[in-house]
Amino acid sequence: MSKMADVNTNLGTTLKVTVTGGGPVGLSFALLLESLMGSKVAIKVYDGRWTQEGARIVWKGEEQENARRQQVVTIQSRQYLRLPKEVRDRVFQEGCYSEMWPKGPDSIRGYGPRNVRIAHFEDKLLELANEKKESIQLIPLRFDPEDRRDEIKSQHALVICEGAQSYTRDYFAEKFGSADKSMYSLEGDHVQDVILGLRVKSDLPDPMAVLLTVTQNRFLLNSLRGDGFLNMRLTDEEVEEVFGIDLKSKKFRDCIQSSPCVMEHTEKPGEFKSTTYSTLFLPAMLREGSPLWTRIQGGLKLFQIKEENLSAVTAFRLAMVHRPRFTAQLYPPTQKTPGTFGFLLGDAANAIHFWPGRGLNSGIASAISLARCLKLNWRDKGFREADFTRHEGLMAMLQYRHKSRAWRTMVTTDSNGNPCAIKNKIKQGIVESENGKFNKDSDIDELMSRLSQIRSRLKQRISGLPSDNTLRQHLRELDPQTLRTLVVSGSWDTFSVGGEEVEVDLLFSDPDSVGGEEVDVDLLFSDPDLPVPPERKQAGKVLAGLTARILVGVALAVGLYYLIPTLGGELSDSLHNIIDELLVQVTL
Ligand SMILES: Cc1cc2nc3c(=O)[nH]c(=O)nc-3n(C[C@H](O)[C@H](O)[C@H](O)COP(=O)(O)OP(=O)(O)OC[C@H]3O[C@@H](n4cnc5c(N)ncnc54)[C@H](O)[C@@H]3O)c2cc1C
Repeated sequence: MSKMADVNTNLGTTLKVTVTGGGPVGLSFALLLESLMGSKVAIKVYDGRWTQEGARIVWKGEEQENARRQQVVTIQSRQYLRLPKEVRDRVFQEGCYSEMWPKGPDSIRGYGPRNVRIAHFEDKLLELANEKKESIQLIPLRFDPEDRRDEIKSQHALVICEGAQSYTRDYFAEKFGSADKSMYSLEGDHVQDVILGLRVKSDLPDPMAVLLTVTQNRFLLNSLRGDGFLNMRLTDEEVEEVFGIDLKSKKFRDCIQSSPCVMEHTEKPGEFKSTTYSTLFLPAMLREGSPLWTRIQGGLKLFQIKEENLSAVTAFRLAMVHRPRFTAQLYPPTQKTPGTFGFLLGDAANAIHFWPGRGLNSGIASAISLARCLKLNWRDKGFREADFTRHEGLMAMLQYRHKSRAWRTMVTTDSNGNPCAIKNKIKQGIVESENGKFNKDSDIDELMSRLSQIRSRLKQRISGLPSDNTLRQHLRELDPQTLRTLVVSGSWDTFSVGGEEVEVDLLFSDPDSVGGEEVDVDLLFSDPDLPVPPERKQAGKVLAGLTARILVGVALAVGLYYLIPTLGGELSDSLHNIIDELLVQVTL
């Protein structure tokens, strides 16, 4: 009998885990757990975007209404180096990734952040999961917690990785508690950004694209050697323009807003069509008649993108909430069932504004933490709440770190310290330029001053940064309104968003490191008042005595060294030799 066949009948020995959602986080988690526990775990993964093709599970295609996501995501080395080696080897094949962004506090062991297409990442994870049939069962179905109640009760863990709109998380709302919008609201209004995603091919070299991106908050280019998405933060008024038109019924549809689809460029100039809804992107049809379309063109010019290299348009609606907990006992143990714990991971736990590029990173960190935690606490019978104290702590750390960083990319402060949504600052810039309240030269000067400051900070970490002449020439070609909006949107608040990152190894040691991974000791908080045990006090005294003797020895030796030249001849030489020997011995 295969291990999968007896999953529901054999309590004990095998850890039984169901994962709902086989996106990048669900699959990463399944592969991590499999790599840690091998035959001791039986994992089922459900995803409604999959279908069976022969013996394999594959992604549904567009004909089955599954528009694969095309965005390029940046994964930090703190995360990707902790994925199983076989995952890294498949994902990061030559030509499938690039290193566009500089190293920072989230870069470990000398490795920088890497850009990959999310669809490529998911493809490789699914490919590998297909090869682990002994431990991972892939089920091409949407998971319904009501229909599968008995199945959930038979599992030790239900790991919910269904993304931001998770149905299973909401089904268990009484266990996980209600989300709180208040801390991501301004004057009672939940702050929401709508970002237009423009699939493009940019001709700008990466270093210049990075510089131009971090100098302002209106546009963000993330790409794989120029191919990627140019993201444009919209004002509330611009969102009203983002409509599709159904040419047959002559009706407008807000398809791009309510359930975003990708509108692909057709062969006709200026025509972007949704394959899902058969609608056309209205601003591109109106061209100069649409204020939004002219501003999109400003962004294309900023990143040196020819209009024919804009191949698709989509939109993302982004808002954040605070979640009270990520771990809960869903069903208690009974004589026949082991007791089931539920876990929120990835976007189902913490959906984060993508501007700082940390949603997937936070999701992978949550998967690493839970996989290590389950392995550490598995004792051939059910779990108890205390087993997840550290994992729950880590989830709270991820929420705090990544959402506070992302909030800084949604909201800024005015000169009196009053908070203000960045999209409203952009609106202010548009109004100013429409009223003729701008000075192109001083806007260029302001941007040049930011660019040169950022360039001097980045020059140790990125080579090939552009000169002042190149930058000024480039900015001169932009229209005054684009320049104004760039200026008022402000540059990235790198001081506030930088600093210490969440380190899973602090709570769960790396199983691959021999003798434990070296963790930055500055990150640990030791208790200054902790009583010192007597044997350590004794050792401390011995060490202090030794240090004092060494210091006296070194001082004497150095003093004599400078006196000897006055003695001259052989006496001087032999004293030199003795002192050299003494110095070697005390310093080793
Ligand atoms: C434009 C853009 C750029 C981004 N850039 C970055 C970046 O640079 N760096 C970064 O770290 N992050 C980035 N992100 C965020 C990143 O894409 C997400 O954090 C990541 O996709 C979350 O993965 P997930 O597996 O948790 O959820 P998802 O990717 O949403 O996957 C959820 C999966 O669950 C399945 N599912 C849902 N409900 C069910 C159900 N009931 N039953 C079965 N299956 C179900 C879905 O089909 C899907 O496959 C970006 C996001 C966007 C939109």
